[in-house]
Amino acid sequence: FEARRQQRDYFCFSAQMLDRIAHRERMQKELMDAISKNEIELAYQPIWDNRLGRVAKLEALARWTHREWGVISPVEFIPLAEQSGLIQAMGEKLLARACQDLKQLQAMGYDWLQISINRSTLEFNTLNPDGRDWLDVLHQHELAPSSFIFEITESIFMEGHEDHLQRIRALRSAGCLIAIDDFGTGFSALNYLRLYPMDLVKIDRSFVQQIPGHTQDRLLLKGLIDIVHNLGMQLVVEGIEREEQQAFICSQGCAYTQGFLFSKPLAWADLMSYLRHHHPVVETGQACEPTPM
Ligand code: C2E
Ligand code: MG
Ligand code: MG
Ligand code: MG
Repeated sequence: FEARRQQRDYFCFSAQMLDRIAHRERMQKELMDAISKNEIELAYQPIWDNRLGRVAKLEALARWTHREWGVISPVEFIPLAEQSGLIQAMGEKLLARACQDLKQLQAMGYDWLQISINRSTLEFNTLNPDGRDWLDVLHQHELAPSSFIFEITESIFMEGHEDHLQRIRALRSAGCLIAIDDFGTGFSALNYLRLYPMDLVKIDRSFVQQIPGHTQDRLLLKGLIDIVHNLGMQLVVEGIEREEQQAFICSQGCAYTQGFLFSKPLAWADLMSYLRHHHPVVETGQACEPTPM
């Protein structure tokens, strides 16, 4: 009886597997379609400069809305794009899209804004060592590389040395900035700060979730802020949802914060209203003095 039960379980399991494989294949096909039809869009989340009291950067976040399945999270479709070899094509299209959007923002007078764009591990590790594919996109749009931040994660460094250092150097010497995203969630994060030249550190939101109540987290965060600033890098704290978190971070002298307290990632039209509200643009196309928060 036990054997039959196991057999039946096995059968159920594999039927489920087949279902999942079929679904994955369909999803992969749909994703390929969506990429070629430019249906993967970007939402932008403001990153505030607390010293100047204005939006300094916009993080570009990929969005896929499927006519049947609705909104699909990048946490789901980015790994799928990686596994099916679509990530590079998608990444380049999104970068081009971000360039067009930044061009438009600059024409409207928002010429100080930087775009911070995510690059997955596979995407980064398959980029030409001289960074050409991404730099070409920026040049084609006649944009200063210094307006672009490439966000990478610690997992990039897991797969041996390869050409990481060369890529990072090439992008930085062209003028782009490199950010380490979700900082503190991987292993030996501090070691990477020693080994690789980086411009920005984005502290993962898990570090602020229990701030300021949790003593240990508070001290950890304080220490991290000090380390990053002493190393001469910019620091962004992610996932700020409450006023008290923001107040604590500001009291520690952290210049940049990002999170739902300020705004969720915004579709283009909503980004326009957000920017107009916080930084009204006068008719000459010049932006007014930033309004303090
Ligand atoms: P990430 O780069 O760490 O992006 C931040 C994520 O946290 C975003 O989720 C954002 O919506 C969310 N978030 C922002 N503020 C808050 C907050 O205050 N509270 C909470 N709970 N969440 C907040 P999203 O858009 O779902 O993106 C998830 C991840 O997918 C990103 O994490 C990034 O690793 C990846 N991703 C997104 N777009 C792209 C892309 O264009 N290319 C690549 N390679 N990866 C992307
Ligand atoms: Mg990011
Ligand atoms: Mg992050
Ligand atoms: Mg993340």
